[in-house]
Amino acid sequence: MTNLVKAVAFAQHLQAKTVQAGNIAVDATAGKGYDTEFLARMVGDQGKVFAFDIQQQALAWTAERLLEGGLEKRVELINAGHEQMLEHVNKPVQAVMFNLGYLPGGSHAVITEPETTVRAVQSAIQLLTVGGLITIVVYPGHPGGQAEFELLKDYTMQLPQKNFIAVHYQIINQINNPPQLFAIEKIA
Ligand code: SAH
Repeated sequence: MTNLVKAVAFAQHLQAKTVQAGNIAVDATAGKGYDTEFLARMVGDQGKVFAFDIQQQALAWTAERLLEGGLEKRVELINAGHEQMLEHVNKPVQAVMFNLGYLPGGSHAVITEPETTVRAVQSAIQLLTVGGLITIVVYPGHPGGQAEFELLKDYTMQLPQKNFIAVHYQIINQINNPPQLFAIEKIA
């Protein structure tokens, strides 16, 4: 594998350096369950993952993936929007992962929306421990994705530097507007 990787892989690369056994983590967009599985492996038997999705199909695919890996006990699947995160997660968390847009293999009409996404990131920031990390993969090339990208960029850019390091990662020589990553680490 190359060192410089796609946004989705880079998100996991950064989270792998953050998440430790016993941690609590959130997958804000379960989708097909790749990040849920990844986080479940990272937190270990003593840890816990909360995985949100508004589509039953996504949670079903995620549940199947977890069962195959024997990881289901580490994960609570939540059929609700991530903007309701504070109603479902009442503990400090070390990691939150977002992979926005639509569910591949599902309806392209069901997508994450700019305002609810930013509300969810604000909630994630409230739950985040010092040293914790939020990763957000955004798809400006998808219909509706550009507006979500712009709002997220404005939001992450204004986070106070005293408390957060916010970064933006993008491959700049690829056609078709590939996915990009925002990452927010809480430092104080
Ligand atoms: N676009 C990515 C996959 C993203 S999956 C790719 O191509 O690989 C995004 C998931 O977010 C979908 O399963 C969708 O149902 C879910 N979703 C949409 N709005 C949501 C919300 N408000 N809260 C939680 N999940 C949401």
